[in-house]
Amino acid sequence: MLSDRQQHCLKAIGIRRWRVRTAEDLAEPAEDSIAAAEFSAESALAALVPAPASSVAAVKEVETPPQISTATLKLDDWGLIDNAIQACTACELARHCTQKVPGAGNRQADLMIVGEGPGHDEDLQGMPFVGRSGQLLEKMLAAIGLTREQVFITNIVKCRPPDNRDPRPEEAQQCRAYLNAQIKQVHPKVILALGRVSAQNLLDSKQPVGKLIPQTHSLPGGDIPLKVTYHPSYLLRTPSAKAIAWQDMKLLQRLLKS
Ligand code: URA
Repeated sequence: MLSDRQQHCLKAIGIRRWRVRTAEDLAEPAEDSIAAAEFSAESALAALVPAPASSVAAVKEVETPPQISTATLKLDDWGLIDNAIQACTACELARHCTQKVPGAGNRQADLMIVGEGPGHDEDLQGMPFVGRSGQLLEKMLAAIGLTREQVFITNIVKCRPPDNRDPRPEEAQQCRAYLNAQIKQVHPKVILALGRVSAQNLLDSKQPVGKLIPQTHSLPGGDIPLKVTYHPSYLLRTPSAKAIAWQDMKLLQRLLKS
């Protein structure tokens, strides 16, 4: 927050504070030009009409802050991680989502669960896995004696991809700094990757999820065991795959106990 004096000094040297312009702001130059042009009641009224949406979008496009790389951020405690996620504009997902969905649950959990990205319900509530897939995930956890409060749940990307499309590689890459920092803080005994996007990103692999499921992996660059299973939304569409997911949950339970 700038003091009155600072604001006065900035104004005096002709520096305007950066902020995303609103339709109201866009009416400003029109008022300036009224002063320059011959005044007429018609033009004064025109200046009060907000600029059309297309020109608002155009100005926002121009004023998008420069791309940053999250790789250089200092993220060595939860406060820094949470603040950085909330302030993040490192990829275009941030411009489309309602709010960030950083993750939730026990920050000292033995089990960390990583999904793909927030969906519609998660985007509205700011919490991961609260929709139908979340309800199934809770049942899968209950089957091995766990509640969602006991585990830490997050996603590869913290903003909802528009129309539930897959996160793009560059989006997952920018968000990876946050995920790595969360993994470092939670320091889980085991990681469970839900579905193809999560598994391929975490394991830096292009293999199909069906090939990744039968093996037990380690998080690359670390020694945390990583289990892959089907995404709950796939299980909702393909109930026959639940038998495999049940085997995965039992193996996960053994990994947690070992
Ligand atoms: N699907 C995901 O991958 N993550 C969520 O948080 C919700 C649905």
